[in-house]
Amino acid sequence: MTQAADRFDLLVVGGGINGAGIARDAAGRGLRVALIEQGDFGGATSSASTKLIHGGLRYLEHYEFRLVAEALAEREVLLRLAPHIAWPLRFVMPHVAGLRPAWMIRAGLWLYDHLGGRSSLPGSQAVRLTADGFGAGLDPRIRKGFAYSDAWVDDARLVILNLRSAQAHGATLHARTRFVSAQRDGSGWRAVVENAASGERGELRARVLVNAAGPWVKPVLDATGGGQVPAKVQLVKGSHIVVPRAYRGEHAYILQNHDKRIVFMIPYERDFTLIGTTDVAVASLAEARVIDVDETRYLLDAVNRYLVRPLAER
Ligand SMILES: Cc1cc2nc3c(=O)[nH]c(=O)nc-3n(C[C@H](O)[C@H](O)[C@H](O)COP(=O)(O)OP(=O)(O)OC[C@H]3O[C@@H](n4cnc5c(N)ncnc54)[C@H](O)[C@@H]3O)c2cc1C
Repeated sequence: MTQAADRFDLLVVGGGINGAGIARDAAGRGLRVALIEQGDFGGATSSASTKLIHGGLRYLEHYEFRLVAEALAEREVLLRLAPHIAWPLRFVMPHVAGLRPAWMIRAGLWLYDHLGGRSSLPGSQAVRLTADGFGAGLDPRIRKGFAYSDAWVDDARLVILNLRSAQAHGATLHARTRFVSAQRDGSGWRAVVENAASGERGELRARVLVNAAGPWVKPVLDATGGGQVPAKVQLVKGSHIVVPRAYRGEHAYILQNHDKRIVFMIPYERDFTLIGTTDVAVASLAEARVIDVDETRYLLDAVNRYLVRPLAER
């Protein structure tokens, strides 16, 4: 692939949700955009998320009001734009004495209901947990909780829809094409790219280079001569487990854990429940690829504190 004669306005490295969203936005503004992805579009972090479109209730504890307000407003946009891949999901947070006090949860949920402006989703409420309702599958000794709304999305399809829209606005997309390096070229960049199957190399020129390489952000930065930039990246692994359906009902659970983290239990593919996540600092990408035994135990312990029939490790 040699397209050195063409000069793009933007060369986006990485076809995850960030690269796809940037490409769509830029192409929609009339810019000439090329995007390269070393593997399959959306094949990395962006298809392995918890698949929630949320304002991030837990960020309120860190006073990230603006972030939450913006995310809630975007949630509304997405529900309107892509109702075939994103839909409302009711979350239930069981209340357990000794963890976050009820007044704090109420205050947080009130903010969550109001921060993002007008919402199409039902507001939060205090709920009684019953075996055939919002407490399905839970230990019957846990009687009270809170319910609020967020949304679920098919994360991989969200990437593809953004890319299709970018393409419809004129963007050039290359899957299985690896960014090798780039050098300054006058006021822009000259990038060397490689076909992952054939090894054939080519060049792409662009005015601006966008590093949307997710967990690979540092190697891509280094390959632009950016090694001098004092950037440190701490890789963090977040894992899920998928188990046979752990409870009846269409709602999700947001469970407070003793380490102050929260763990989600979410209905998944009709017959399953998705449980996650962990949050473990790792030294390499290879380490992040697989869940380890301690993470599995952590997730099982977190949900077993709540479930009437504890899940066993096999
Ligand atoms: C466990 C977990 C759960 C999450 N849950 C949620 C959630 O519920 N809701 C939410 O909104 N967010 C969630 N997130 C966050 C969200 O998933 C990420 O912020 C998002 O997917 C990051 O997208 P990205 O495009 O930056 O990275 P990625 O999806 O990783 O994309 C980067 C791409 O760059 C490509 N690339 C790298 N190097 C090169 C190269 N040299 N040449 C070409 N291509 C290259 C990679 O192949 C990859 O496809 C979660 C994250 C994790 C880890």
